[in-house]
Amino acid sequence: MCIPVLAQVPDSGRWQELRFGADEVGERMEDRYIEQVVDLAAAGRLDADRALLHRLRYVSTELIAAAVELKPEAASWHWEVHLASGPEIDAVCLAGGKLLVGAEFVRRLALDDGELAVLLAHEVAHAIAEHSREFLSEAQLAYRPLVPVDVVMERLDSDLPLQLRMAGLARTQEREADQLGMVLAHRAGWPVSAMLSLYRKLADADGGASVSEPLIASHPSHAARISMSRGMARLLEP
Ligand SMILES: [Zn+2]
Repeated sequence: MCIPVLAQVPDSGRWQELRFGADEVGERMEDRYIEQVVDLAAAGRLDADRALLHRLRYVSTELIAAAVELKPEAASWHWEVHLASGPEIDAVCLAGGKLLVGAEFVRRLALDDGELAVLLAHEVAHAIAEHSREFLSEAQLAYRPLVPVDVVMERLDSDLPLQLRMAGLARTQEREADQLGMVLAHRAGWPVSAMLSLYRKLADADGGASVSEPLIASHPSHAARISMSRGMARLLEP
């Protein structure tokens, strides 16, 4: 647990120091996902909109194929896609490929398939870049003696100074997920126009409609995301 492994983020090549194992983090994230899905099902709020669930699964199939091209070990992940009714979930993808998308969020923004793909691609990018594993690894170093992954997760939920200390890495990861997500969406065959229009819709819808995620939520400003998506669009479709 204490000997860091160096890894590189797909596409960007940024180096990461990973102290916790992929399995260790994956298991914790799977537990969180199962808990959330079971709660939603018990409340009758899981996969209620069958038509939207069908669109979600159609769109995610190609994205997952693109993700596996960039990160071959993701082929053996147990990818799952579910839909949550209710306003509190926007979109998440936990380590190991566990996607959960908020039906109201998609309806509120009136996302077409391309925009939905870009939204999902951002989340899939977090997963294949192993952002949770990196984030937990970095957070572990905040206190001595070093503590196990469960304790780090608890501290991240409640420890404000730790959250502030982690803000820089959180921002780096969000920018990276935007860029890697656009690469994934492009590889899955979606036009760059879908990327630009998603970030415009997010900006127009705000009041605060940033995508909420586990552990952290510190996306770049809407202006920065729109200008990033324009830059990426020129790179991807010159
Ligand atoms: Zn994100």
